[in-house]
Amino acid sequence: MGRIKDLTGQRFGKLMVLEITDKRDLHNSVIWKCKCDCGNIAYVSNSNLQGGQKSCGCLREERLKEHRKKNFNLVGKRFGKLVVLEQAGVDKYQHSLWKCKCDCGNIVIVRRESLTLGMTRSCGCMVMKHLEDIKENNSVDNTNIAIIKKLISNNKSKVTKSGIKGVGWSKKREKWISYIMFQKKQHILGYFTELEDAIKARKEAEEKYFKSFLEKHNKK
Ligand SMILES: [Zn+2]
Ligand SMILES: [Zn+2]
Repeated sequence: MGRIKDLTGQRFGKLMVLEITDKRDLHNSVIWKCKCDCGNIAYVSNSNLQGGQKSCGCLREERLKEHRKKNFNLVGKRFGKLVVLEQAGVDKYQHSLWKCKCDCGNIVIVRRESLTLGMTRSCGCMVMKHLEDIKENNSVDNTNIAIIKKLISNNKSKVTKSGIKGVGWSKKREKWISYIMFQKKQHILGYFTELEDAIKARKEAEEKYFKSFLEKHNKK
């Protein structure tokens, strides 16, 4: 066995070598007992010390933390009409939630991914305004053909918690609520434990209200 260079008292980044141990790593490299500047005692192999290890692991963690902090914090950032005010905990799927103020004045809670992926860019007022715009000249029997056609072709929603139009989460009942707006009246279709059932109820109502309305209208 070759002579081992004594590293006692030498410093490697934040690591101060205290003493040699009789331990060896898998490659039979001597393991040194070191003290890290953070206070941790670390056992580091000769090859790792020579290979550039500079802390007990805390340096890497610090960098990771910093990186996460920089990327995690959304406060003050703008997404469309929304400006992030503060973090608002997590939802039941552990998605981080952020309280945002919309340019229109509304306060909304939005999931982080919805903001960063550009799915949510207002409190919903942009969608509403769009609907108002097409409402003007497209109304029959108090019902908007264009909106209904749009609703049938695309049931995705940026506003509801389920991501599906007409299917929301009732905090009070802790159930999914299914509803449909038809001829300016909101019809509650029921409360459901399973999201699928709520979506199904909404689908059935769309058939019942929208499609029959369109068929009737098309015949005219
Ligand atoms: Zn350390
Ligand atoms: Zn708004």
